[in-house]
Amino acid sequence: MAIPKNKTVKKNDGLSLNSVDPEVFAIIERENQRQKDNIELIASANFVSPAVLEATGSILTNKVAEGYPGRRYFSGCENIDELENLAIARAKELFGAAHANLEPYTGSQANHAVYLTVLKPGDRILGMDLGHGGHLSHGAKFTMTGKHYDCHFYQVDPETERLNYDQILAQAKDIRPKLIIAGASAYPRTIDFKRFREIADEVGAYLLADIAHISGLVAAGLHPSPVPYAHFVTSSTQKTLRGPRSGMILLGEHSAPEFARKIDSAVFPGVQGAVHVHAIAAKAVMLKEAMSPSFATYQRQNLENSQILAKDLLERGFRLVSGGTDNHLMLIDLTEKGITGKEAEDRLASVRITVNKNMLPYDSQKPTICSGIRIGTSAITTRGFGSEEMYCLTELIDQMLSSEPTVQTITKVRDEVSRLCRLHPHLNSVDKEEGERFSLESQYQLQS
Ligand SMILES: *Cc1c(COP(=O)(O)O)cnc(C)c1O
Repeated sequence: MAIPKNKTVKKNDGLSLNSVDPEVFAIIERENQRQKDNIELIASANFVSPAVLEATGSILTNKVAEGYPGRRYFSGCENIDELENLAIARAKELFGAAHANLEPYTGSQANHAVYLTVLKPGDRILGMDLGHGGHLSHGAKFTMTGKHYDCHFYQVDPETERLNYDQILAQAKDIRPKLIIAGASAYPRTIDFKRFREIADEVGAYLLADIAHISGLVAAGLHPSPVPYAHFVTSSTQKTLRGPRSGMILLGEHSAPEFARKIDSAVFPGVQGAVHVHAIAAKAVMLKEAMSPSFATYQRQNLENSQILAKDLLERGFRLVSGGTDNHLMLIDLTEKGITGKEAEDRLASVRITVNKNMLPYDSQKPTICSGIRIGTSAITTRGFGSEEMYCLTELIDQMLSSEPTVQTITKVRDEVSRLCRLHPHLNSVDKEEGERFSLESQYQLQS
């Protein structure tokens, strides 16, 4: 469009979102309210700190940078280089890694970069079955990975519903994959990465450990780290790690010499373009927070909450996949309760408890229906929910799922959800007025 002669292009006049775009502003406000009024039990969800939020929304989004510190394709990168180096140094320190790449846009992109590094189209992958807890980016047939590579899947043991490493080894010997993927989105038990590496070595495969869900626990020393074992470690940063919606890749001392340069060029220009500089800043802040003692306290509380929830649900007659949990999440099998995962998700949503329906191992329902739900404690623990609230929560879940709830029950449960939400208000840094009444700090820093 031509610019009229007597007019100049208007500069950014500093107008607020509310005045420039009231529609988007109103939607964000409604979402802010929803986040406050709902009990968030989606296992991959969390709430970032005001500091991470500030970095995410900073002016860094204006900077274009391609490549890596000291090796850029644009000038004016001196501040960005310092920032990315800081983030890299923190990631290496926190996870005991010899090399870190902080540029992946998401956990899925991080996985794609690993595939590009070690695989050619048509090569074989062995990963965890999506219906048994694996992730879409591990080779589901309708994804890019599934179309470009020859993807095979291991499942959990039908009896124990846990990984059976002997079975996985036998399958690996049979399939002879070039890459084995260890890691899951819906597996409540500890993963033995050392054993996975032994399996990979026996069949001459590379090992990718995808710790998207458990990276916060790994950082806090509450789940064994794969860094000493896996050739590649990838993670999302928005889950237990409580950072921005983004990704990263770590290499241990044993694999960095061979793969550091290769993985960097696989991320850029292999699968991505210019750096999301604002996300790098947010990840740097996240990593600093994750090094603090209060983060370890948070993760211990996260695990304790998960344990209480699991134990109390079992006592109330719910069946949990594998009989319990070692981490921040669990899978509830609703078959005996006579409702589907979809129905349970909808019922709980009607009282502002947010969960997701989830396929269970050997599920007979369709993926749109599912026999179970997955619940996790990361977000509510950030909010400050402790053991007392866990007992309240199991009572509410029980009332909603064990039989068809009456109108009175629904009203009562809704009131109780409101009470719990008010007791532990979730505040985003945009909530200035309320922020004066409640300390934002207390939400993120549990007392030791
Ligand atoms: C969440 C997740 C990912 C990546 O998800 P993104 O949304 O791309 O960050 C990858 N692997 C596993 C196991 C996950 O749970």
